[in-house]
Amino acid sequence: MNRREFIRHTAIGVGAVALWGPQAIYVNAGEILPKKGTRVVVAGGGFGGASTAKHLKMMNPKLDVVLIEEREQFISCPVSNLVIGGLKQMKDITFSYTTLARKYGVKILNATVLGIDPVSHRVETSRGSLSYDRMILSPGIDYMYENIAGMDENAQKLFPHGIKAGDQTVQLRQELTEMKPGEQYLLTIPEAPFRCPPGPYERVCMVANYLKKNKPGSKIIVLDANQDIVSKGKLFKAAWKDYYGGIIEYHPDTEIKAVKAGSRTIVTPSAEYKGAVLNIIPEQKAGKMAFMGGLTPEKRRWTPVSALSFESTIHKDVHIIGDATDGDVIGSMPKSGFVASAMGKAAAATVVAMLAGREPLTPYLANTCYSMVNEKEGIYVTGVFEYDPQTKKIAGKKAAGGVSPARSERLGFQAEDWARGIWSDTLG
Ligand SMILES: Cc1cc2nc3c(=O)[nH]c(=O)nc-3n(C[C@H](O)[C@H](O)[C@H](O)COP(=O)(O)OP(=O)(O)OC[C@H]3O[C@@H](n4cnc5c(N)ncnc54)[C@H](O)[C@@H]3O)c2cc1C
Repeated sequence: MNRREFIRHTAIGVGAVALWGPQAIYVNAGEILPKKGTRVVVAGGGFGGASTAKHLKMMNPKLDVVLIEEREQFISCPVSNLVIGGLKQMKDITFSYTTLARKYGVKILNATVLGIDPVSHRVETSRGSLSYDRMILSPGIDYMYENIAGMDENAQKLFPHGIKAGDQTVQLRQELTEMKPGEQYLLTIPEAPFRCPPGPYERVCMVANYLKKNKPGSKIIVLDANQDIVSKGKLFKAAWKDYYGGIIEYHPDTEIKAVKAGSRTIVTPSAEYKGAVLNIIPEQKAGKMAFMGGLTPEKRRWTPVSALSFESTIHKDVHIIGDATDGDVIGSMPKSGFVASAMGKAAAATVVAMLAGREPLTPYLANTCYSMVNEKEGIYVTGVFEYDPQTKKIAGKKAAGGVSPARSERLGFQAEDWARGIWSDTLG
């Protein structure tokens, strides 16, 4: 949306009805939330945005913090592979935003962001417009199907990615259960970087675990555009060999070129594969909000920000965090919920400091990510990341982090604790 369109939409938004907070309070006004005092608008209530909003209020309760999120409930990607595999249900990964509103005083605006004007400090939503002093965006990701011939809108619905937990998670679960014994589940993995490096490989385990018990003769065929497994490779390979021999067929360095929707076929440079389920994970880029107001140049995939403050390198007073950020600019970190949440806390602290006329705080971030390899055993990877004033990037600390020495049931329990911990830290 350009500046003129933004102003037109804002005019249409006058008189719109706003809804925020758990009790559905309705307000009629042009500016849907008249601004009193200093306001920080947080857009996108996933792991990054929800953590940011909560921690802004914890650090400075006087701030007027508005969290704009288009979904009514928070649905967690972590643990969603277990829903596909039948070990958990959607209700186990679905949460309310109520505590953020009731306990911390965050105003939740359930609306879609349509435009951002970083010059006049305004944001246009499906329920009207509002102004801000600073904005923090955690837009998540968007999907790039343009390099896969035949992947039109219809094919996108038929062949889900399941990397934004929700309807597609349910669809994949249902399609898996409806497979006939002997049929094949095809999973494609794009070249890194993508959301959650170990995520697709955990999905392989969850699908294989289900097929082993329920669909004799069935297989999961993995077409991976990368040279090898991107994360926890040795641990995944050991589990695949020990538990799922004959059930997982792994093809590294295999890029998907086209789909034939009618015959449910995937075309690669070397072969064609037919499946009952086609789980196509495309290449990814920053979420749509990151491209509003010129915050991400059209030809770039990810959003450039300062590694110190997460402030946009293009517009002042807008900070961007989470999966959408450009690893080439800030330094390479996994696109994970843990990192998005850690960036959210760092950005909250920095915004509170900058609003008080102080310097940004130096970010010091961590990542922990568990994966399940069957219903009981887990594995993990951890990392610690520190801002380097010389390179002006965030870099992994070599002495810290690494992967678990082996898989174990103890790590399976820890994986559950980890999930409960991050959900509570983000929303509780
Ligand atoms: C299968 C799977 C397993 C995973 N497992 C793990 C794990 O074990 N550990 C881990 O750390 N990470 C895991 N991840 C990764 C993690 O989910 C993401 O890295 C994390 O969600 C990124 O947070 P974010 O805030 O950047 O984006 P998101 O969490 O996607 O948040 C973006 C939010 O913005 C909202 N939004 C988008 N556009 C608009 C708009 N125009 N208006 C209003 N709202 C909008 C979206 O609805 C969404 O809620 C996993 C991911 C997948 C797919």
